[in-house]
Amino acid sequence: MIDSLPFAPKPRPCKVCAKAFVPRTSMHSVCSPRCMARKVKKDAADERALLRVRKEAAKPRQKWLDECQAIVNKIVRIRDAHLGCCSCDRGPNWSGQWHASHLRSVGAASAVRFHLWNIHKGCSICNNHLSGNLAEYGPRIRERIGNAKVDWLYTQNHRVTHNVEYLKRFKAVMGKRLRRMERRMA
Ligand SMILES: [Zn+2]
Ligand SMILES: [Zn+2]
Repeated sequence: MIDSLPFAPKPRPCKVCAKAFVPRTSMHSVCSPRCMARKVKKDAADERALLRVRKEAAKPRQKWLDECQAIVNKIVRIRDAHLGCCSCDRGPNWSGQWHASHLRSVGAASAVRFHLWNIHKGCSICNNHLSGNLAEYGPRIRERIGNAKVDWLYTQNHRVTHNVEYLKRFKAVMGKRLRRMERRMA
């Protein structure tokens, strides 16, 4: 039993502030209640950081896809803040909910699911009840961004499976871009 040996206190550096102190027991690692409080806080933060890393590693691809799409959609809504619906006459001051609407659907053209030419601010009525109101969306968006871009979008008919590594990088880059835009808006 270690505790049956007489404990010979020798100064040691505090684990938090590095100041030398004389410990009361062999387990004693910080100099003061204040450093103890800081140590408890730091240990809890380290624990949370570790959990976060583990959780990110276990996150399925669909969650990454959803998070990337949510970021891109927010970017689109900020970019188009001054515009009306992409597929009807509701103007920028319409008081309903705004969505981000894909011209080429994710199912048909996943290659351009995050492409900013392919996504425009649309009203919830067109998006929810008219599936984006595509008959109007096409011609109106040709007018807005030009035929060349829209024609290119219609050549993008392949499906792409974005892997998690790609999605992580994409989320980091686009997240930064979104935060910059949000700061400018504020
Ligand atoms: Zn200390
Ligand atoms: Zn609309």
